Amino acid sequence: MKNISYKNLPSVSKVLLLLNEDPSFLHEKYLKKLINIEIEKKRVEIEKGLNKKSSTQILNNILFEIKKKSSHSLKKVINGTGIVLHTGLGRAPFTGKTLKKIADRLDGYVNLEFNLSNGKRGDRQEHIREHLSSICDSESALMVNNNAAAVMLSINEIANNGEVIVSRGQLVEIGGSFRIPDVIEKSGARLKEVGTTNRTHLKDYSDAITEKTKLLLFVHTSNYVLKGFIKSVPLEDLVVLGKENNIPVMVDWGSGSFLDMNKLRIANEEPINQILKKGPDLVTFSGDKLIGGSQSGIIIGKDKIIKSLQSNTLYRVLRCGKITIGLMEETLRSYKINSFTDQNLSLKMLTTTRKRLKNRGLKILGLLNKKTIKLLGMVLVESNVQAGSGSLPENKIESMALSFKPKNLKLDKLSKKFREGNIPVIGYISEKIYYIDLKAVLSHQISLLAKAIESI
Ligand SMILES: *Cc1c(COP(=O)(O)O)cnc(C)c1O
Repeated sequence: MKNISYKNLPSVSKVLLLLNEDPSFLHEKYLKKLINIEIEKKRVEIEKGLNKKSSTQILNNILFEIKKKSSHSLKKVINGTGIVLHTGLGRAPFTGKTLKKIADRLDGYVNLEFNLSNGKRGDRQEHIREHLSSICDSESALMVNNNAAAVMLSINEIANNGEVIVSRGQLVEIGGSFRIPDVIEKSGARLKEVGTTNRTHLKDYSDAITEKTKLLLFVHTSNYVLKGFIKSVPLEDLVVLGKENNIPVMVDWGSGSFLDMNKLRIANEEPINQILKKGPDLVTFSGDKLIGGSQSGIIIGKDKIIKSLQSNTLYRVLRCGKITIGLMEETLRSYKINSFTDQNLSLKMLTTTRKRLKNRGLKILGLLNKKTIKLLGMVLVESNVQAGSGSLPENKIESMALSFKPKNLKLDKLSKKFREGNIPVIGYISEKIYYIDLKAVLSHQISLLAKAIESI
């Protein structure tokens, strides 16, 4: 029998005592759990004969691991994926400057639901409603937790216990749990599919209308395109059909934008007010896709409908908090009639030219040691990226990327080193090359990125 000795393992209380000298702000129960996990890891190593270290070495190693794990979990990362609206990285980004502005205004209590002019209870939507409606040319507007919530609330209010007609070509899934058929069912309505995957005619809709029909739903196929032998019914025609039969028409426009994406040369997409002009009763879209705001869903339409939505119990479940509303108010202020201010980071990054990105790339290379560039096999190359979050799937957006072909390091190791650095950098591997795309790297993160590369 092997002689296994666990005497080099520290006790939980000893580790705890040493950690408490350090300003570690975790709840003690959580800290104890982390310590137990680390001690157990060492115990297993010793058992397998893999750990011959001294008690001091083991203790230091445990302290190191705990300190690493007890840093904040949600933190800043550098987005080297090239995808500006990256759901995994928080979608629309905000600068510290914008966040500080909001922190100032929201310091302590705020008039979230308090009318300062008459001293009575107010409505949180009033902070953004008129501004939003004006931009969208709508009578009224409502903001909820996200677009999924906007769709669910609307269907529940309008079509509960009834049927919702949707074209089979528009039964969208937006990653994971947002699937039109499931959302309709959870909203208390029944889905009535019409047409086929590639072709749906107006007659398919009109044939499906019965007294049970409560809503005609038009869904923006945000994350895919149908090509070839296809036919879909234009929204305008669906609106006419709805009017003839006295059935409301709703649009889920997903990645809606306030500006003409064509003019910004981002994509061939109409702005939200043009969608509403086609006459649907309501339109929903995400606040944190092309709008560039906080995570939210926005519903626009007639005052009467918006009021009924707001009195639905689900609204209470799905409403936004003050920080989200504060961020959206700030985002709305970044819009002008045909343009936007630098405060709208998403649009700013989506419209940054390749030429400018090239200059930034050269700047980064200039900040690096020649040796680093050589060791990591770095070259600045042209790239193409997508907007992300299912927005504009067909559009290739011009960008530049730093490519890495390191001499003595495997790519997955390199990628892990970047992810686990002081400021994590998230790049991607494609065809045996590691890339950090510059499209979604904030302009003020250039030297941070250079430092991160140097530290590899
Ligand atoms: C993105 C999207 C959704 C979901 O929006 P969230 O804001 O992520 O909840 C719903 N429908 C469409 C068409 C979308 O593009």
